[in-house]
Amino acid sequence: MKIAMLARNPDLYSHKRLKEAAEERGHQLDIINTLRCYMNIASRRPEIFYNGSKLEGYDAVIPRIGASITFYGLAVLRQFEMMGVYPLNESVAIGRSRDKLRSMQLLARDGIGLPVTTFAHDPKMTEEVLKTAGGAPVVIKLLEGTQGIGVVLADTERSAKSVIEAFRGANVNILVQEFIKEAGGTDIRAFVVGGKVIASMKRVGAPGEFRSNLHRGGSAETIRISPEERSTAIRAAKSMGLNVCGVDMLRSNHGPVVMEVNSSPGLQGMELATGIDVAGKIIDFLMKNAQAGKTKTKGKG
Ligand code: ADP
Ligand code: MG
Repeated sequence: MKIAMLARNPDLYSHKRLKEAAEERGHQLDIINTLRCYMNIASRRPEIFYNGSKLEGYDAVIPRIGASITFYGLAVLRQFEMMGVYPLNESVAIGRSRDKLRSMQLLARDGIGLPVTTFAHDPKMTEEVLKTAGGAPVVIKLLEGTQGIGVVLADTERSAKSVIEAFRGANVNILVQEFIKEAGGTDIRAFVVGGKVIASMKRVGAPGEFRSNLHRGGSAETIRISPEERSTAIRAAKSMGLNVCGVDMLRSNHGPVVMEVNSSPGLQGMELATGIDVAGKIIDFLMKNAQAGKTKTKGKG
């Protein structure tokens, strides 16, 4: 099989591991710098050019599109889809997962447990928004934040109001969420591949930190999740339409609640914490599913 991986940094642990796992299984995996691709759109036969030549003969594409280049990255991925190359995750599904509000709406529609989440455009609605979220403390999040940056805990009504007003004044879109205190700075990440949880870990925030992101100094250990958590993770992946994702959940008093679904989950923390060959499982999934033209959306929508 010939696989293209859209990624910018070939030296990242996740990217190295995916390449290694593909090669171990006798496949070719080329790392393609997303931003250096250019496309011929006004043609009946979609094409992508890279370093002066046409990209051809790929069976599958692994999108590892950083949050900062979502727009262009998804356009390149869509072009691959239109060429009939099987995407590990479809562009439409990645687009959904990148917007926290859109994902929450989809998850809610499918009856998946979520923290109470509110959203308003007009800063005049701040008081109502806070009331709906259950009052302070609340968590305030940028709609397109990642790695814990842009997630703020406001302990009091007063600080919540000023943070909301500051963000809205800067014309930044946010959501306001009930703070799940009982999670104790800990969350669970379940790694889903092809409708199964293949590995999961518990992440604990650094002392004094409510965010458990590894990028914010959190630490990770392997964990056995409950059947309810497992089924929540699988349903969340399905509702986003993602084949491969990391589902982040909190253990709340009313069962597991999903915070977000990551479409390009990092492999390092998970493989080191669990000893599971996550990269191998991803390549095995591609092997089983990649047939030219199998992408359902063909870049539509
Ligand atoms: P990011 O995309 O930046 O990772 P998340 O929504 O996943 O943003 O939030 C980052 C971290 O903050 C989570 O892993 C969790 O530890 C903590 N957190 C987020 N939302 C809540 C919440 N409603 N209640 C308690 N902790 C939260
Ligand atoms: Mg997160």
